[in-house]
Amino acid sequence: MENEKYDVVIGLEIHMESKTKSKMFCSCLNNPNESVPNTNICPICMGHPGTLPVINKEAIDNIIKLGLALNCKIADYTKFDRKNYFYPDLPKGYQISQFDYPIARDGYLEIKGENVPKLIRINRIHQEEDAGRLAHDNDKTSMVDFNRAGVPLMELVTEPDFTSADEVVNFAKELQLIARYLDVSDANMEKGEMRIEVNLSLKRKGDKKLGTKVEVKNLNSFKSVEKAILFEIGRQSKMLDNGEKIIQETRGFHDVKQVTLSQRSKEESHEYRYFPEPDLPPLEIGEERTSELKAEIPELPSSKRLRLEAEYGISDYKTIEMFADNKDFAEYFEKVATEILNWMQHERIEQNKYFELIKIAVNYLTSDLIGLNNGQIIDFSSKIDPENFAEFTVLIYKGDISSKMAKIILKEMYDLNKDPTHIIKDKGLKQIDDISEIENIVDEVLKRNGVAIQDYKNGKTASFQFLIGQIMALSKGKINPDKAKEVLLQKLENI
Ligand SMILES: [Zn+2]
Repeated sequence: MENEKYDVVIGLEIHMESKTKSKMFCSCLNNPNESVPNTNICPICMGHPGTLPVINKEAIDNIIKLGLALNCKIADYTKFDRKNYFYPDLPKGYQISQFDYPIARDGYLEIKGENVPKLIRINRIHQEEDAGRLAHDNDKTSMVDFNRAGVPLMELVTEPDFTSADEVVNFAKELQLIARYLDVSDANMEKGEMRIEVNLSLKRKGDKKLGTKVEVKNLNSFKSVEKAILFEIGRQSKMLDNGEKIIQETRGFHDVKQVTLSQRSKEESHEYRYFPEPDLPPLEIGEERTSELKAEIPELPSSKRLRLEAEYGISDYKTIEMFADNKDFAEYFEKVATEILNWMQHERIEQNKYFELIKIAVNYLTSDLIGLNNGQIIDFSSKIDPENFAEFTVLIYKGDISSKMAKIILKEMYDLNKDPTHIIKDKGLKQIDDISEIENIVDEVLKRNGVAIQDYKNGKTASFQFLIGQIMALSKGKINPDKAKEVLLQKLENI
């Protein structure tokens, strides 16, 4: 939505927990979701005197991959710094982070803008470590769990390139997807594996100077991000309308009340006194390692969308998104597509019918099959062999089974992982296509329904539908409905 008086300027800081075996600087297990408190801790991540941190190579590889996927420059030389502050969940009294030499910088990500694609510039991505977690018991006792302390965190900072909540959510969703494709973070917002901080300011339309920036935290879903931004735009617009001054502060989003509330103002903000981490050597990354990691980067969502459209003729935007969002499901579909090609050769179906068959397969995959699986979108390989699904598609295409039968067969395939030909045989489901067989059934129905024939002759069109119903029932739904209609019409003409 376009704001009439003010330009909205938004930048983001996003933290993502890096997916590694061990923590950032020790060999403790990286499992921030461990339910027994203080299980994965050791003297290093507890900051005991005399211990020395060691850099986790896997974490650095993850951040380099993320940087490359986001078109960043990867630093040859990088180093770690201490960010000093006191908080009960921070055992060392400082966090190891990166101040002036981040691992990745100057990248960008293309997102869906208002009308056209938009480039969001990425200022930097740096490596740091997570803090522990506090739990409060009836406001009387506070407890601390250090399982998360020292877990590798990737912090991404964007330029203030966003102008709406939609753009921010599009960016965050695409980033989450990329992290998952790269397998560098699970990036679940609900689990705190991905945390978004919004920096938002308003300025009068056309003004050069930026307005006062407000930082919003505690956003644990895309919905909260959207709501918080809309709330802040409303709140700040109203203040500016009334001639009030915006205070530079940090605000938290209140999920229940759906408002942002002040947490601390600038005067209380921290002076971190960064200085180079004396216990860690500077890190030289080098061309070789970067190009090795570049080679490991899989196809990313943006290329996948384009390829699905070109290779399979899928033009429906929602279908493409469904495949882009669910990597395993898309892989299953592509296996089915390959098998369809084999079946087409086997059945001597012309190559130019491929997209037609793909369309049938996509329809049954994205609606019926997911429906059978209670809406869960998964890799269906273990449920239905891709070859069987391809055969099923070919049977529908050839008209060997009606859409009604297809639903019965698909359920059976899903429940028993059997091939459709066997199910058709076992259940006697093959469509009745033979014209003399169809004529016999129609004759039988006409013989039994003299009154309906009379009604039809007298112009009651509903009688035709009634007769078709009788024909379907007598054939147990197996008759080819189009052919049955044709035969019935002919026979009625001649009575
Ligand atoms: Zn440890």
